[in-house]
Amino acid sequence: MQNRRFFLKLFSAGSLGTIPFLNASAGSRERKPAKGKAVVISTWDFGKEANAAAWKTLGAGGAALDAVEQGVHVPEADPTNQTVGLGGFPDRDGKVTLDACIMDHQLNCGSVACLENILHPISVARRVMEKTPHVMLVGEGALQFALAQGFEKTNLLTPASEKAWKEWLKTSQYEPVINIENRKKEEDPKHLPGGPYNHDTIGMLALDADGRMAGACTTSGAAWKMHGRVGDSPIIGAGLYVDNEIGAATSSGLGEEVIRTCGSHLVVELMRQGNSPEESCKKAVERIVKRDPVKAKKLQVGFLALSNQGTYGAFAIHPGFTFSVKSQQTETIIAAKSWFK
Ligand code: ASP
Repeated sequence: MQNRRFFLKLFSAGSLGTIPFLNASAGSRERKPAKGKAVVISTWDFGKEANAAAWKTLGAGGAALDAVEQGVHVPEADPTNQTVGLGGFPDRDGKVTLDACIMDHQLNCGSVACLENILHPISVARRVMEKTPHVMLVGEGALQFALAQGFEKTNLLTPASEKAWKEWLKTSQYEPVINIENRKKEEDPKHLPGGPYNHDTIGMLALDADGRMAGACTTSGAAWKMHGRVGDSPIIGAGLYVDNEIGAATSSGLGEEVIRTCGSHLVVELMRQGNSPEESCKKAVERIVKRDPVKAKKLQVGFLALSNQGTYGAFAIHPGFTFSVKSQQTETIIAAKSWFK
């Protein structure tokens, strides 16, 4: 009764906007970002080399945005990595089409999708962010923009990826195999796309010494996809999201599942509600699994998150998802926990 009177009094005073616990952000864990705790994390073990490149900037007190761009350049330019950039597996028509996005500490973002013949799609995404009033450019338009910005055309289809595509054409079943990392080596003798020896998208998240966060996500997407198919990786809120008041998240795995759950945005919002990075990733995975538990047995999604305090965590549907961490104190690769064992 007393409480009710208290509320009535407050309402009648017309002071709703000033009642702290009725404020829209009540319960939110927005916090000032930590300073002096630079850290970079990225999906998969190949993220280790990418982190090392990012650390050249971060460790010297540079900006998170520059660090993530420079970091993901490493797998983008690596012809032996068949799931990102140069040497990426093509679509079913034999075309290598790239998806990438980047985001800074002020919700600025840029993205390209289905971009062909450009070595560093992440840098084109950054130009979209910085030089245009738009967020996303796709296909031919993205290519025209890249060329106008001085990027050069590069053939991204390496002989090894062309050979793998031709092998696939013999069966030509349209069933993109996406990182079923729980396969054993003997079940994946040919290092199938998405297998444990042959995995996927790089998503990188960083917090710099000044407390600024940034993220980058870049991929050649699902092998043998339909031409024009776009996954989660270039979609802000799906493959990547950064909110400096809370933290950042990224994903790897079957993009369609991540898009329909707005996965990375969901992870950040779960952190805002007070969940740790790992708990937030787990709850986002749970949404995907609960929607269709039978389908979930056959597909992989992994989320990775970094708070603006420098804490991090990950969670995946299946075992096999790993992530790499680099800070002043640490350089390590961690196996994420998973829903199915
Ligand atoms: N998420 C990417 C896509 O769906 C690929 C992957 O990470 O496996 O295009």
